[in-house]
Amino acid sequence: MPATPAETSNGRGPDRPRLVGILALQGDFEAHAKLVSSLGADPREVRTPAGLEGIDALIIPGGESTVMTLGIEREGLAGPLRALVDRGTPVLGTCAGMIILDREHLGVLDVRTQRNAFGRQVRSFEADIEVQGVDGGPMHAVFIRAPWVTEHGPEVEILGRVEGHPVAIRQGNVLAVSFHPELAGDARLHELLLAAPNTIVGGG
Ligand code: GLN
Repeated sequence: MPATPAETSNGRGPDRPRLVGILALQGDFEAHAKLVSSLGADPREVRTPAGLEGIDALIIPGGESTVMTLGIEREGLAGPLRALVDRGTPVLGTCAGMIILDREHLGVLDVRTQRNAFGRQVRSFEADIEVQGVDGGPMHAVFIRAPWVTEHGPEVEILGRVEGHPVAIRQGNVLAVSFHPELAGDARLHELLLAAPNTIVGGG
């Protein structure tokens, strides 16, 4: 009998590409999928709890948090999404994705966010911002009716700010930014997501 190759919990071999779930109820999930593919990982559009099974990481994209929240309720995704975070799966939320993760929504980030904090369409803008933990210079960030963090608990690290307001944060295995790195084609946060260990990480 040939030796059975070691397999990870999702049944794929240890050297297989990372499988990245992208919540695809609404929003700009396709731009994230392209970026994930460009890094040699496999994107999977997630619309139901079954879609979360076996993924190595998850992205919650930008879009409209009200519409996404309705979709999460309709599909019974809130519990499975919280369980995924509790298991230590690396998660990246962008823009509306940050809102979905906050205290008032999934409650996995100990933050209060303010929607459309920079104002509505008139305050869509681009900026270069330093994000702690992202090497290679500032990130080119596209803000579209973006939120910012107005309040946060002690476990939340602030990684970047605009006009003094937190727009990039991390709490354990959950990373969230209020801008759209996928629209600027900046893959460095996605690289961090892929490099993150799929385990519960403590503290910093
Ligand atoms: N303004 C949107 C909301 O509140 C977020 C915008 C975005 O994701 N680009 O849900």
